[in-house]
Amino acid sequence: MTSATTVKSSPHVLPPLPYAENALDPVISAQTLGFHYGKHHKGYVDKLNTLIAGTALADLSLEEIIARTSGKADQAEIFNNAAQAWNHTFYWHSLQPAGSNEPPANLKQLIDSSFESFAACKSELVAAATTQFGSGWAWLVLDGGKLKVVKTGNAQTPLAQGIKPLLTIDVWEHAYYLDYQNRRPDYAKAVVDKLLNWRFAADNLP
Ligand code: FE
Repeated sequence: MTSATTVKSSPHVLPPLPYAENALDPVISAQTLGFHYGKHHKGYVDKLNTLIAGTALADLSLEEIIARTSGKADQAEIFNNAAQAWNHTFYWHSLQPAGSNEPPANLKQLIDSSFESFAACKSELVAAATTQFGSGWAWLVLDGGKLKVVKTGNAQTPLAQGIKPLLTIDVWEHAYYLDYQNRRPDYAKAVVDKLLNWRFAADNLP
């Protein structure tokens, strides 16, 4: 079915990290980022390329593959790898090295009308990242004109539900275990307090 040649010519490439592997240290160590990006993220991209080589999905974007395979039991493996490839690129861009910045004015206005305050929005994100049972993701999304914090399990992504993601936090154990072991709440709080890129979230507003 899938030869080494078709795999080699598959279209999806691992996008470069938007910063150096040690840029998020000490909140996320270079060791964690190195494995997470270089092994886990790369693994999803490589596996997806293997799965779609020579199929009708081979020339489609990640977003199109996610839309076409979502909810289809016989295409779950393709969905999972495509969604994980997309989710991870979105996660890298949701973080930034220079410390969590302040939301730009247009986003700040939406935060204030959707939550009690910026602090309440951040608390909800920490809570979602902490309480997601098992592997998954915490998200800030735009849904029906309002901002919401949601969580998804495993590879699930708001994209598949037609909801606009603005920021995400990976809460799979591979995202934090080398640095925080079982202390997921400490990882969640440190990421929300120190790394979230609110400029990126604002840029995702329609
Ligand atoms: Fe991950």
